[in-house]
Amino acid sequence: MHRRHLLRSTVALALVAAFPKKLFAEMIADLSAVRGDGSQVTIPAGVLKDLKASLRGRLLLAQDPGYDQARLVQNPVIDRHPALIIQPTGVADVRTAVNFARSLDLLVAVKCGGHSFSGQSTCNGGVQIDLSPMRGVRVDPQLRRAWVAGGTLLGAVDHEALAFGLVTPLGTVSHTGVGGLTTGGGFGRMARRFGLALDNVTAVDIVTPDGLLRRASAKDNPDLYWGVRGGGGNFGIVTSFEFALHAADRQVIGGTLAFPIERARELLQRYAEYTPQAPDDLYLDAWVACPPGKPQVCGVNVCYSGAARDFDKVMAPMRKVGTPLADGFKAIDYEQLQRATDDTDARSEGNYTKNGFVSAITEANIDDLLAGRSTDARRSSILYFQHCGGAIGRVPAQATAFPHRHALANMMVMTNWPVAADAQPHMQWARDFWKKLEPYTRGFYVNEVEGNEGASRMNANYLGNYARLAALKRKYDPTNLFRLNANITPA
Ligand code: FAD
Repeated sequence: MHRRHLLRSTVALALVAAFPKKLFAEMIADLSAVRGDGSQVTIPAGVLKDLKASLRGRLLLAQDPGYDQARLVQNPVIDRHPALIIQPTGVADVRTAVNFARSLDLLVAVKCGGHSFSGQSTCNGGVQIDLSPMRGVRVDPQLRRAWVAGGTLLGAVDHEALAFGLVTPLGTVSHTGVGGLTTGGGFGRMARRFGLALDNVTAVDIVTPDGLLRRASAKDNPDLYWGVRGGGGNFGIVTSFEFALHAADRQVIGGTLAFPIERARELLQRYAEYTPQAPDDLYLDAWVACPPGKPQVCGVNVCYSGAARDFDKVMAPMRKVGTPLADGFKAIDYEQLQRATDDTDARSEGNYTKNGFVSAITEANIDDLLAGRSTDARRSSILYFQHCGGAIGRVPAQATAFPHRHALANMMVMTNWPVAADAQPHMQWARDFWKKLEPYTRGFYVNEVEGNEGASRMNANYLGNYARLAALKRKYDPTNLFRLNANITPA
């Protein structure tokens, strides 16, 4: 009897050892979760089992393989644990996920590329809807249109469109998500020629908070079409973007012109003078880099997509700054340039960013920027001007929800530190520095802020567009289901 009992236990243990993951994954229990208002809710095991059964994609709980990869975003400072993660494979699953979240008033995070600096695409205790299984691009070269699934990274769009000699302007790092980038703005190397990413959206399919799939375009739900172009993720989950494509030569001139730090003032002065008159086919970012334990340097990054024979003439004003440390311009494939600043190990360093749009770069701004730069050997920092203007500035401020058409540049203070170090002193340095720089700005980029900025700051930021956005939010998302974003308070 005793021996038989022992044998049975041994067999049971061996089975557990052989199939632990499967067994654990099937052990769904009641789950404690967080609502949008911060209160707790218990989701009964039966409800979770029904949810799992109704999805074609995956439902991930904390014990499941893949959970940790999904919950993390690019910024390693952000370490949040959703109660559950839904990975939809298509519109049907997105609708299921939204209906499920709404029925329990759950806190909802939506993830595409996971680039949100402040980690809006993950959360503690809520539901994360991770769109990464929904990636794909279809190009129609005759119609010059691309249909891009809501979880796609921008490098895939460049790759597919360029195969037909076409391009749509997106961001500058190929692993950025199209979803977050486009709904908030989308500044990139071709934006001065063809506008922001959102200016090129001709239609979207979007699952709104009521769980319905809507098409938004100039003809269908034009109010939603207006709001989704600049209102960020406030109105629902875009499952498909339709983009206009433009003919473009895939060979451009790109690279960096770098100078010693002593030339920084003159570099920024010439940048301030030249950028308002630069041709649309020149995209010119200026920067001052302060790496730890190494000499500080300054310079410009370029993407020039005009006639190669004119390049020297076009760059002459910036070359007058003096003898460069490096003049690395070369003819380069646009797709390769789009990957040139990709992170090989994006989560190796903590990061924090402050930003604001400037309509002009004044002497006082340059003074304060240079005076405040970091000399602390524990962090690196980059003071950056991302070039705006051109076609971006020719769109009326009320034509889309995005209003910052006045901007000459997006001014940024970006800082990084070793991932194991305490983040607080570095974030505090950037915040204190920003207090000096913010008065030179007029508004901020919703894609690069911390999250809930509050209604009055958001109102000021939207330069007259906020009342319309707040009314739209009341119409489509009266309970603020989609609140993890630069949040618009329902009117
Ligand atoms: P995620 O973190 O996945 O999502 C951010 C938010 O976007 C979500 O909280 C959600 O509200 C919303 N969202 C995501 N997908 C959808 C969807 N399908 N439907 C509705 N809402 C959605 N910005 C530029 O303009 N130009 C640049 O060149 C640029 N470069 C960057 C480089 C790096 C390394 C990083 C980290 C950021 C950069 N950004 C740039 C900022 C970028 O625009 C934002 O971080 C943006 O939110 C990234 O989108 P994502 O989908 O990767 O982000």
